[in-house]
Amino acid sequence: MLSEFDLIARYFTRPPRADGPVRLGVGDDCALLSVTPGQELAVSTDMLVEGRHFFAGADPAALGYKSLAVNLSDLAAIGARPLGFTLALALPAVDEPWLAAFSDGMLALADEQGIELIGGDTTKGPLTISITVMGEVSSVAALRRNAAQTGDDLWVSGTLGDARLALAALQGKLPLTPSELDAAAVRLHRPAPRLALGMALRGIANAAIDVSDGLLGDLGHILQRSRRGAVIDADALPFGPVLAKSQSLQVQREFALNGGDDYELCFTAPVTKRQAVLAAGISCQTALRCIGSISSDVTLQITDAAGKSLHIPSHSFDHFSPS
Ligand code: ADP
Ligand code: MG
Repeated sequence: MLSEFDLIARYFTRPPRADGPVRLGVGDDCALLSVTPGQELAVSTDMLVEGRHFFAGADPAALGYKSLAVNLSDLAAIGARPLGFTLALALPAVDEPWLAAFSDGMLALADEQGIELIGGDTTKGPLTISITVMGEVSSVAALRRNAAQTGDDLWVSGTLGDARLALAALQGKLPLTPSELDAAAVRLHRPAPRLALGMALRGIANAAIDVSDGLLGDLGHILQRSRRGAVIDADALPFGPVLAKSQSLQVQREFALNGGDDYELCFTAPVTKRQAVLAAGISCQTALRCIGSISSDVTLQITDAAGKSLHIPSHSFDHFSPS
């Protein structure tokens, strides 16, 4: 049987890159990370619990990837450059094939995004994955939730709703063909953290958030913190391609606005920065769509392209809501 230390050495230890920010990695009492002078350390934690955030028996490689991806999405949303992350892992048993696939999925994304695993903790317990990511950004350039200004354009990256669609299909709540399910499930299992976009938007966007619990709910955080409202043109929403092809307009709007698990960036930027926003999207090969604007009255209004008001209530995901 593999000991705790053998397990860490075998699956979670790699020599830090000499040219990276890690001065001391896995294996000592603390890791040492260097931050560029003049920058702040950006820190964020996300925890994934079996049966709550992912199905029991979920594919370990996809789980490793997604656990890191959802954390990196928070760094993206504040415009930080990723530096390192720690992994706290509770495992019911030592399952080597599971560990190998999990660490491969996770470390492949880490390599892709140039971030290193610098430490963590490993214990026995119900399967739980808690990651803390660290990045750097200057406090003046950070894309905070409280910085939306009246008149700002409201933007969203990529497409919305396909992850929610895949979840509904996997729960047996609506039918999809096998090829539709495969295409939508990529969005549920392998969200692409928009790190390059977040960094490219520094100095251009005012406020930003990543869309993890549904656009309306997450935008609501920007509006609340900024003491502003917004008008959304539902006909401008970038629906996921599978959603657009397979569902009624009503379901498309519901999943795009309240879906969750999209991990796109929602951000606001001055009208005068439109060209700069579009150039940022092109430079990181990410589609961007202007879906509305920020208003001074603190209400969230949803209209169609003709300006007619639509009634679509926000029901953002809340782990402690009684329903
Ligand atoms: P401590 O006794 O100081 O808590 P541990 O014995 O838990 O240290 O961990 C030994 C080393 O392995 C530390 O450097 C720690 O950061 C690292 N480590 C533990 N678990 C993990 C993990 N799941 N992934 C990466 N590093 C880990
Ligand atoms: Mg420990």
